[in-house]
Amino acid sequence: MFDRLSDKLGKVFKKLKGHGKLTEANIQEALREVRLALLEADVHYKVAKTFIDRIRERALGQEVMTSLTPGQQVVKIVHDELAALLGGEAPRLELGGKTPVALMLVGLQGSGKTTTAAKLALYLKKQGRQPLLAPVDTQRPAAIEQLHRLGAEIGVDVYRSQPQQNPVALASEAMAAAVAKGHDVLLLDTAGRLHVDAPLMAELQAIKADVGPAEILLVADAMTGQDAVAVAQNFHEALDLTGVILTKVEGDARGGAALSMRTVVNKPIKFLGVGEKLDALEVFHPDRLASRILGMGDVLTLIEKAQDAFDADQAKELERKLRKETFTLEDFRDQLRQVRKMGSLDQLMGMIPGLNKIKGMKDMQPDEKELVRIEAIINSMTPAERANHVLIDGSRRRRIAKGSGVEVQDVNRLLKNFAMTQKMMKKMIQAGKKGGKRRFLP
Ligand code: GDP
Repeated sequence: MFDRLSDKLGKVFKKLKGHGKLTEANIQEALREVRLALLEADVHYKVAKTFIDRIRERALGQEVMTSLTPGQQVVKIVHDELAALLGGEAPRLELGGKTPVALMLVGLQGSGKTTTAAKLALYLKKQGRQPLLAPVDTQRPAAIEQLHRLGAEIGVDVYRSQPQQNPVALASEAMAAAVAKGHDVLLLDTAGRLHVDAPLMAELQAIKADVGPAEILLVADAMTGQDAVAVAQNFHEALDLTGVILTKVEGDARGGAALSMRTVVNKPIKFLGVGEKLDALEVFHPDRLASRILGMGDVLTLIEKAQDAFDADQAKELERKLRKETFTLEDFRDQLRQVRKMGSLDQLMGMIPGLNKIKGMKDMQPDEKELVRIEAIINSMTPAERANHVLIDGSRRRRIAKGSGVEVQDVNRLLKNFAMTQKMMKKMIQAGKKGGKRRFLP
């Protein structure tokens, strides 16, 4: 799911991250593209509009404009809003209260209701529950047989009803049977129709009143996009749903139903059906799905760490020093400390998706010990030496090497690298001045 959306958003953000500093126009353009990508993903247009408005408000605020990594900040905001759009917290299945607890599955014919009933039964069984499946359909013997077959496949009892009974009486009997046989969950697979119709709704309302289910879950086919959302709205008005299960999600490249459901129906998606097999049921995690859509891996954690470690004031001070060309070994050491505050390099590299897959990348990993050594060398210098590295002659180098427990070559190498860094920074600033562009370093 969301392959295309993911692709499109990836391109928008790549462009955005390419700008050192963002202007309002950059952000507006990116948001326009995000909106189009959402509409192409079959997201309800009102949902797309509200979503973009929220992001615009945040993206044009202080939070982004004064940050070190404005492009990444926008991505983070889109991620947070996407997670909120998908429903915020991961919802739980309501299984408390009286035993046995009844769960009612409702939905149109063909949505995957019977399959999902069996999937849920298997999910609950794996959690140590003793579910009873009950087909509450008086019209389609084939659907009843299908549930019996699936129940046998997963080793879950299925209530055997008499044909042509009244569905409300049938649900009641199934509940009595669940009590008698010591089941703790009763899963009602209700009848489906090809369209939403009044007699069906009346039947479902009567069952609801009689059984008092803890959950009324709509099973909806994700491939039908906005139709699924409209169906959910209808069912919700009649039955006051507690949640939604989207099926056939693995075949839905667009994801519009998932993205619109929460805003339009205001009920959480609780599970995703991701295949025909009975274990192809996933608990729905809005935040993880948002990360997946944005192809972000653990980058979010990384950005949060960077935010904690760097503060914008310090960065400005650094920039000022660079401009005045007074960047010293002391500043260099501070930078090093900030980077190390974010965690071990190994750990940081591991959080960047795909990095470890790049050929040769493993050997290029910076050596943690090297950073420690560099800091020790700088620590062994006097404040005057740190402020002006030109002072550091041969005898001072030997003293520093001894003080920090390294070889003189290590000190030489550090000083050479530092001089090079300084030169490079000077060049970058001059280029920046010519181009009239402001940019933060590092
Ligand atoms: P019902 O009429 O709503 O009870 O629907 P069924 O449970 O009979 O399912 C209709 C069809 O959808 C069957 O062929 C199922 O195998 C299929 N199906 C159900 N859920 C999923 C799913 O998550 N992914 C895929 N690919 N197929 C599904």
